[in-house]
Amino acid sequence: MAIDPQFEDNREVVDEHEGHKVWGPVDEPEQLGIHGTHVAVDFDICLADGACLEDCPVDVFEWTDTPGHPESEIKADPVNEAQCIDCMLCVDVCPVDAIDVDPGRTDRV
Ligand code: SF4
Repeated sequence: MAIDPQFEDNREVVDEHEGHKVWGPVDEPEQLGIHGTHVAVDFDICLADGACLEDCPVDVFEWTDTPGHPESEIKADPVNEAQCIDCMLCVDVCPVDAIDVDPGRTDRV
């Protein structure tokens, strides 16, 4: 299962974390939702491969601890999504398609 690119239509903002939105549903620790809007990471798909952290040229991602989540106990958090230059590398390298990047999305929300 890949991240839903239409999540802004299909989900609601339920929280803020490190300056970005969190799109629910969230039921911690098993269900964590999507973090970010311009750069969106589905935490319920992310398995902490780390390719996005290594490859992002402007360091958008940092690890955040998610103890008790069934996929992985750390997640790639888009803490610096405002720095994104839309190169799409993270989308290409993610082995589980947990990331979607859309520069127009922030303005539509
Ligand atoms: S699209 Fe490029 S700049 Fe933006 S978060 Fe992904 S790797 Fe980083």
